Amino acid sequence: MMTTPAIAADSQTAADQRPGWRLVIHGGAGVIERHRLTPDKDREIRDGLERALAAGADILAAGGSALDAVEATAKVLEDDPNFNAGRGAVYTYQGTNELDAAIMDGRTRAAGAATGITATRNPITLARAVMERSPHVFLSREGADQFSREQDLDQAPPEWFATPERLRQLEELRARPSAEYFDVDLKYGTVGAVALDVNGHVAAATSTGGLTGKRWGRIGDSPIIGAGTYADDRACAVSATGAGEYFIRVGVAHEICARIRIGGESAQAAADAVMAEVGELGGTGGVIVVTPRGEGVYSFNTPGMYRGEASAAGRSVAVYGDE
Ligand code: ASP
Repeated sequence: MMTTPAIAADSQTAADQRPGWRLVIHGGAGVIERHRLTPDKDREIRDGLERALAAGADILAAGGSALDAVEATAKVLEDDPNFNAGRGAVYTYQGTNELDAAIMDGRTRAAGAATGITATRNPITLARAVMERSPHVFLSREGADQFSREQDLDQAPPEWFATPERLRQLEELRARPSAEYFDVDLKYGTVGAVALDVNGHVAAATSTGGLTGKRWGRIGDSPIIGAGTYADDRACAVSATGAGEYFIRVGVAHEICARIRIGGESAQAAADAVMAEVGELGGTGGVIVVTPRGEGVYSFNTPGMYRGEASAAGRSVAVYGDE
């Protein structure tokens, strides 16, 4: 018969064996090469990634939850105009900014997401409100905007999201023949965070403006649970970035978790295998993954991915594929 002291001793041992907290972030993948970024832009991107890592790392180091950490991290990147999420989101074909976000809690597999939203300053906070304060998982467009107002979330006018560089990218796209309107490289900067907290729980968050020139209410993978975002304490937490159409078809985030949970693969093997599948279909992009075992990995098939990681051992950020 199990006695109370024995249980206490066992759980003490389990806590001692936990791998410690870990945070991995991305700020988008694509044709990111040294000659395309000025030294100033390179610095601004790295500073933005470092600020975001700091926000999440402070929470995790103080014993906070993975869920709070990924939300806080994503908010910093959403407010930074260098990234395609929140402020600095790409434009739709009509010249508006329509934002998508999703968040998932690995403890319970609770999830929340919103697509096509136009007025919430931090879309990731709306995704979290959908998860925690509505009976639903996924809200869209006017309804999601309305829910955001009803929940008293911070609202922002269209000018808050608008940036000259994203407008220039839309104009560049519109100047092309219409057959070339689908350009996954005119959008760097979707943001994502995955975290493991000291209690062994994982969470994932992803936020984006989608693709430049998107039309017809197009929705990418980022807000789709199982495609661009997934978290399950039995396996891993994943956030993806890239050509969303391919990530949806492969079910990337869930597939990585399934390979780890059912197939017993390492995080790196699972992420690489699933990114290879995306590549075989013709898709480009990348993923970040953490596991309750303490693994934290990147996998991408583009020349670069804005990315960073933090743990009790330190912090690092990187931009190009060879770093
Ligand atoms: N995956 C996003 C989308 O397809 C874009 C990106 O990650 O850059 O909407």
